[in-house]
Amino acid sequence: MKRRTAGKLMGLGALGGWLPKQMGVDQEKIGIALVGLGNYATRQLAPALQLTQYCQLTGIVSGTPSKVKDWQGKYGIEDVHCYTYENFEDIAADDKIDVVYIVLPNFMHAEYTIRALEMGKHVICEKPMGLDADECRKMLAAQTASGKKLQIGYRLYHEPHHKRMHELGVALHWGPLKVMESSLGFRMANPASWRMDPSKGGGGAIMDLGVYCIQAARRMANQLPQKVSAQGFNTDPGLFKGLFEHVSFQLSFPNGAVSNSTTSFNAYVDRFHAACERGWLQMQPSFNAGQQVVLTTSEELEPIEGPGPFQQVAQMDAFARNIMDDTEVIASGEEGLIDLQIIDAIKRSIEEERMIEISY
Ligand code: NAD
Repeated sequence: MKRRTAGKLMGLGALGGWLPKQMGVDQEKIGIALVGLGNYATRQLAPALQLTQYCQLTGIVSGTPSKVKDWQGKYGIEDVHCYTYENFEDIAADDKIDVVYIVLPNFMHAEYTIRALEMGKHVICEKPMGLDADECRKMLAAQTASGKKLQIGYRLYHEPHHKRMHELGVALHWGPLKVMESSLGFRMANPASWRMDPSKGGGGAIMDLGVYCIQAARRMANQLPQKVSAQGFNTDPGLFKGLFEHVSFQLSFPNGAVSNSTTSFNAYVDRFHAACERGWLQMQPSFNAGQQVVLTTSEELEPIEGPGPFQQVAQMDAFARNIMDDTEVIASGEEGLIDLQIIDAIKRSIEEERMIEISY
């Protein structure tokens, strides 16, 4: 019997929770299968998994045999735990795989998350949770029916500088929050990418990057925005077909705070600034994976210990602990849904050229 199952039966939580020192034997860790061995899985998630305390990479799903061979060589994954999109459902019977981690293009998130939940597996789904709020609601319904846990790949919910930002916001450390500014963008190098196809990416930079600006503003304000005004810009319709090159949006919060953001597929930018009545904070770089967040504030604060080379270590370990201890997931599907409700409203605002009241 696996250690965590025994823990559940014996009421381990009541005995003080999971004890890290008792870990170490592979069967005691949470087994994760990565689905889609693209850029993010290869460069960030697989190396991050090697540094986690409670997780291990026990399976992969890929349609490319040469990739599977490379990954097996690098991470020692046995043939029986390597799957294709055709035999994906066989994972249901694989007891080395506890969590199915969906790292596929955005248009595949809902389908594969629902299929994995229906197989009785816990799921981490990459951002954005789905193509729109409707898809997210279907994913949440599948989660409820399955009784399994769902995390959205929001690594910054577990990143120490972003956590401090959230704490300062919740505590109203500098008094009422007034104005936030944030932007995230890069120059799209590959016009053939699924990210440039509205039916696959969901509509360009706002879908790819918008969740970061939205979640920083929400977590600093510790509230949900009520209204949004948004504008789409496209100076190169030959390159950006059926989507916007840049999207700017303004959120207003019940506490009076406002947030102004731009997401772009044609300019490199990565920063967040929050101005309160008696002080401010700034993170630059703020959102991108693969570089350290730099936080500056209007007064000197306690130093923050960085996350190490991969922000995803804390994200995946937190989810493993949620499973082991049966605790609530912070970067939950409900959080993912809220962000898509806001993005849906942003898209509507651009289309209807007016301010939209966001419905939750
Ligand atoms: P990618 O294009 O590099 O990888 C996608 C993978 O899906 C590829 O291996 C591809 O072969 C596979 N795939 C399977 N079926 C496919 C199909 N029908 N069409 C296209 N590809 C198919 O993309 P990526 O950059 O690795 O992004 C994957 C997901 O991870 C996206 O949802 C993205 O938003 C998310 N992501 C998250 C972060 C983060 O910091 N949380 C960072 C990067 C990407």
